[in-house]
Amino acid sequence: MGSPLRRPLVAANWKMNGSRAANGAWVSAFSGVDTPCDVVVAAPAVYVAELAATFAGTRVECGAQNLNEHQAGAYTGEISAEMLVDVGCRWVIVGHSERRQLYGESNATVASKSERAVSTGLRPIVCVGETLEEREAGRTFQVIQAQLAAILELLSVDELAQGALAYEPVWAIGTGRTATPDQAQEVHAALRAQLADRDAGTAMALRILYGGSVKPANAADLFARPDIDGGLIGGASLIASDFAAICAAAGGTAAR
Ligand code: PEP
Repeated sequence: MGSPLRRPLVAANWKMNGSRAANGAWVSAFSGVDTPCDVVVAAPAVYVAELAATFAGTRVECGAQNLNEHQAGAYTGEISAEMLVDVGCRWVIVGHSERRQLYGESNATVASKSERAVSTGLRPIVCVGETLEEREAGRTFQVIQAQLAAILELLSVDELAQGALAYEPVWAIGTGRTATPDQAQEVHAALRAQLADRDAGTAMALRILYGGSVKPANAADLFARPDIDGGLIGGASLIASDFAAICAAAGGTAAR
């Protein structure tokens, strides 16, 4: 069941969903929930300031879903790490497959964004994962190890451990098709071994989340695996009661 070395973390990725009214209803529904794990809500950027203020003093922390890799300047439409910190944001998702695929983010860009996040004190949730085509071609490990290697060019394991790594097989995101606990565990173990090659002690402390169609019905089986330290939750995070059930499943696995 999990590892007592690592406190589970469950992060909501609301993607481009929500409104002030819907967010308020979600917060009300979630407010009485006991969360036996660390909880992050990564909201669309326009709602981050309000949610960060709402969550202040609770065990829920606010995150963003993207940041720009530059500090400031002529980058119309973009949002810097400093701006996110300024409004109370604590976490940021980096390298989500939707950003890699739809907005052309390369491994190098994802690494730069991760570095920018850490340099401002934002905790990155860095996503890696293979497409169905890559899995079927037997290239899963090659792809995710190259994605992680690019991050480790710019960040130490210790810096990455200020945030978390998320394994999100692209074929499981928003598809209703979940990796089996065995499939997820073998990738998580490979990622941890790659981290341990650089820094064995910190690799054991770094949280690796699974993401891809996690639901209340499958969360406990996934989180029970030794290298799965929680989840990054898309669709199911929009329903407060489902997200609460997933948090409860993570709380059963490891250190409090
Ligand atoms: C995600 O967007 O990170 C994700 C895992 O989505 P879903 O849970 O909907 O598959």
